[in-house]
Amino acid sequence: IALVGRPNVGKSTLFNRIAEERIAIVEDVPGVTRDRIYAKGEWLNQEFSIIDTGGITLEDENIDKAIFAQAEVAIDEADTIMYIEDAETGITDLDERIARILHRSDKPIVLVVNKVDNEKRRAEIYEFYGLGLGDPYPVSGSHGLGLGDALDAVIANFPTQEIEEDDTTINFS
Ligand code: GDP
Ligand code: MG
Repeated sequence: IALVGRPNVGKSTLFNRIAEERIAIVEDVPGVTRDRIYAKGEWLNQEFSIIDTGGITLEDENIDKAIFAQAEVAIDEADTIMYIEDAETGITDLDERIARILHRSDKPIVLVVNKVDNEKRRAEIYEFYGLGLGDPYPVSGSHGLGLGDALDAVIANFPTQEIEEDDTTINFS
């Protein structure tokens, strides 16, 4: 699962929450100096790896370019993308540009609207339907709200596990 979104929407907060609350083991990847960007997670007995793409930075510090590079990494590496938006700021130009890149991918995308800290904020999630990425899932990374529903939506996109048949398989048919 890749967490994608412009800076400050709360990717790292959500990453830490998903990693710390659901997780047995956290795996650091060598060579990643700034942020921890990979971790293992688990939800409803499904194990997954999670990537905080905000930790992927470019040397020339061109923020826009870095964000598009992050989106490309997510599209290449991930099986499912959690696209994080921010209820406090609403949709920005940059959000729309990232959404357009994600549209081009055929990976499943779960639209997550962060910073929905209270009931009042819930009314603000409707504008996010405008991104054309499906239903927005309201969450609050800092309060730990709504993540279960968002992760349910992510898990729903996982391939169903096939149990390989071998010689010891008993065939009941
Ligand atoms: P990132 O740049 O996308 O990784 O965002 P961060 O996780 O670093 O968070 C950016 C800022 O948003 C920080 O000041 C967080 O404390 C704040 N933040 C993150 N999640 C929430 C939330 O659910 N509600 C509110 N009100 N602030 C949040
Ligand atoms: Mg971050």
